[in-house]
Amino acid sequence: MIASNQIIYLDNNATTQLDPAVVEEMLPFLTNCYGNPSSGYRFGMQVRKAIDLARERTAALLGCEPGEIVFTSCGTESNNAAINSAVQFEPRSKHVVTSAVEHSAVLRHCQELERRGAEMTFLGVDQNGDVDLAEAEKAIRPNTTIVSMMWANNETGVLFPVEKIAAICREKRVLFHTDAVQIAGKVPIRLRDSAINFLSLSAHKFHGPKGVGVLYVNKRSRFSSSIIGGSQENARRAGTENVASIVALGKAAERAAECLSDEATRVRTMRGRFENGILGTVSGASVNGAGAERLPNTSNFSFDGIESGAALMLLDRHNICCSAGSACRTGSGESSHVLRAMHGNAERAQSSLRFSFGRFNSEADVDKALEIVPQVIEKLRRLNSPVASAQPAKASTR
Ligand SMILES: *Cc1c(COP(=O)(O)O)cnc(C)c1O
Repeated sequence: MIASNQIIYLDNNATTQLDPAVVEEMLPFLTNCYGNPSSGYRFGMQVRKAIDLARERTAALLGCEPGEIVFTSCGTESNNAAINSAVQFEPRSKHVVTSAVEHSAVLRHCQELERRGAEMTFLGVDQNGDVDLAEAEKAIRPNTTIVSMMWANNETGVLFPVEKIAAICREKRVLFHTDAVQIAGKVPIRLRDSAINFLSLSAHKFHGPKGVGVLYVNKRSRFSSSIIGGSQENARRAGTENVASIVALGKAAERAAECLSDEATRVRTMRGRFENGILGTVSGASVNGAGAERLPNTSNFSFDGIESGAALMLLDRHNICCSAGSACRTGSGESSHVLRAMHGNAERAQSSLRFSFGRFNSEADVDKALEIVPQVIEKLRRLNSPVASAQPAKASTR
């Protein structure tokens, strides 16, 4: 095992370190407090109370009512559940609008629904990664059942104007879902009075454990669960609760709300120093999505003349963790669909690296990254340069 204290972890959009306060909160539910929250005796009811508290803390982070929170197994399940509910249970309406830059938890699911007969519109983005509001409005048809647009892009950090899109949907009486997995703890959320019907979160993106998520279901919105069984989660998600993880998610939500304003500023400053440092020392570097509103923590670069995979390998040798696009694509050899949608060419997508900062990063991490990243890029360019490969004799004198 690689010790985490040797690692420069700059991949907080892939997953985050558990907050020690979260671990402490969840431990009793992995040991002594093992009662079933649905049981009628006190040993079960005390567990029910802990879940209720987690629900209140999550609702506080989202600015909604506790009854609107449904705990799920992950962000992916939340995204699937919202769209499935709209598509499967609204018999007349089978058209879905989403974007071409969604996380695979929406994109692949929508592609699969299309194969099964639903109609889909995948909205494109401009060079900054922005959607066009007028185009989004035009895409809504009489048989559109739901629009699903991510709040922040996991690869570039670009923010979509989801409140505005939701308002358009409300006017047209179409459901609106947003994959908000990347914004928890980074951007304030207030769902009370918003036109958003469904919203997804995932605990492991805000210093909680993996394998637990949230689906916000607005209390006036129709929702049908696709996991049928017991009446847990007010009959919106059957199955005995993942108690320890739900308790942990609640604590992580409370911490995210507490830390938000200070952290957003601290992390934005850190990201700014990193970005300016790289742009100042590495030629042929550009920030993807720089012209759009972005998350404070995400830096997505393309470096002319390098290949992401090779860069990741060299950075890994220096114990720097970052990624090319999203972690979910690593190993597939496929370039980023997000960057291809933005720039229309594969080159910029194949030479991209994403650095994402978080609560447990320090200025020393930025120093280290600013030392190593330019070295790695320079080394790769030297290896790739046609002079070096075509004239090996000369290359040795360099
Ligand atoms: C990580 C992520 C997901 C998936 O969440 P899981 O809990 O890992 O299933 C979905 N959407 C976005 C934008 C993400 O970053």
